[in-house]
Amino acid sequence: MMSEYVVDLFEFARTGRVAEGDVRLTALPRMLTEVPAEVAEAARAEQVFHWRVEGAERKVPRADGKESIEQFITLAVTGPMWLECQRCMKPYQEPLVSETTFEIVHDEAAAENRPLDEDELEALVGSKQFDLLSLIEEELLLALPIVPKHTVCPAVHDSLATGSDGLTESVPEPEEDKPSPFAALAALKRSPDKDGK
Ligand SMILES: [Zn+2]
Repeated sequence: MMSEYVVDLFEFARTGRVAEGDVRLTALPRMLTEVPAEVAEAARAEQVFHWRVEGAERKVPRADGKESIEQFITLAVTGPMWLECQRCMKPYQEPLVSETTFEIVHDEAAAENRPLDEDELEALVGSKQFDLLSLIEEELLLALPIVPKHTVCPAVHDSLATGSDGLTESVPEPEEDKPSPFAALAALKRSPDKDGK
């Protein structure tokens, strides 16, 4: 069905091919399940991720002192993703950015037998009919934040604005908003500046 995404991954890498394009969120069923229910169909339909795959072949030194020629691909994916903020429970768009280089191996056994010192590169089992789309979706799923959160929640903004009459910046955060350890740390770091004013 999505034949444009199916490639001979060994050939792709060996010849140093580059492919890129945009994929719609609606073409990625596992990503769609992460979208909050409140996000409208039209907004989902507009959502697009950009991807780029670059193949490469290089000589790699092996543990026994010899070199072998191995194939690699680097996959980059970027784009905004609808998620539910875990602080205010409202949907927002999180910019996802991911770039991963994989060493292409022929089977699962080869992936598991790789020496430990090469573990910085992920092994990817190649195939002559490799589905780039499912790899793109996996990389996007891995790029999702563990705890999605607005940088600044709009709800916090609103309560500050209504409670302050233009003195927004000097109003302390609402006490019911339980700060994270990081926020508490940031507040500690900020306090000397406030004393200095
Ligand atoms: Zn929020």
